[in-house]
Amino acid sequence: MSEFTRRNFIATSTLMAAALANRPAEASAPTASKQGPGVYRYKIGSYQLTALYDGTWFRKIDDKFVRNATSALVDKALTDSFLPPGIVPTSFTPLLINTGAKLILIDTGTAGQLAPTTGLLADSFATAGIDPKSIDTILISHFHPDHINGIKDKDGKKVFPNAEILVPEPEWAYWMDDSKMRTAPAEMRPMFLNVRRIFADIAKDVKRYAPGNMVASGITSIAAYGHTPGHTAFAITSGNESMLVLSDVTNHPWLFARHPEWQGIFDMDANLAVTTRRRLLDRAVADKMLVAGYHFPFPASGHIVKAGSGYDLVPVMWQPL
Ligand SMILES: [Zn+2]
Repeated sequence: MSEFTRRNFIATSTLMAAALANRPAEASAPTASKQGPGVYRYKIGSYQLTALYDGTWFRKIDDKFVRNATSALVDKALTDSFLPPGIVPTSFTPLLINTGAKLILIDTGTAGQLAPTTGLLADSFATAGIDPKSIDTILISHFHPDHINGIKDKDGKKVFPNAEILVPEPEWAYWMDDSKMRTAPAEMRPMFLNVRRIFADIAKDVKRYAPGNMVASGITSIAAYGHTPGHTAFAITSGNESMLVLSDVTNHPWLFARHPEWQGIFDMDANLAVTTRRRLLDRAVADKMLVAGYHFPFPASGHIVKAGSGYDLVPVMWQPL
């Protein structure tokens, strides 16, 4: 009896495929050209949370992507995770919290402005059966475009017209400061201009909060500086359950949770970002807390465990409510 090996499996499959190639297609439905909807609901205490997928940017990277690791090491981390080398699949997942009294959205997606494979948030809202007009509060973690661009549509109109917008005070102080814009490296200027495009004409509707304080019922902001000057994480508590919303404390977990010391090009104060990453991931490990990560693979939540000198994400399993 022949042994089952990968090689003879492929050989047999190839022969079968060749035999079938001459026959007309028999499937009664065509193959699909689109993935299913990106909506995933879960509970923390009495709060219902909904992860709303906005898409994935297949980011081509070069040897500058991680400042303190060679591209060979980064490619190894990618291929060890069964991902192709040279491309970081960066997904975007805003999180909606229904407290029973209020609808609160943390971060707003890309508005499709990062890649053609992004900008699905409106579809995800429709699938979830939630009208963006019904959102009461927008909580912004930081001012990078993939977190704030969804505040406005492509015509500059507010997507969540009835929501109050809460932003971290130190983030506002940095990005809205013209002298900071003048002295920042030239490649950062578009980001400063983007912040003005989003906020300048709606400044009166924007409320600033000091990270560390409660920002909504059951939601406490956590200073998580480093990725940006005012980057903020959140703790959500309802009843005796709580979870940690990491925002961009770690970007793709197979890279930056497994290698927490890696300094991604997007971390503005890279040393502080590494310290913050370890502090919050250690807390997630110690408290066995569910975490959400804005750039984690959809549905962008799971638990963090220690792994070697770094950490690993154990993603949640799809389950009914
Ligand atoms: Zn981000």
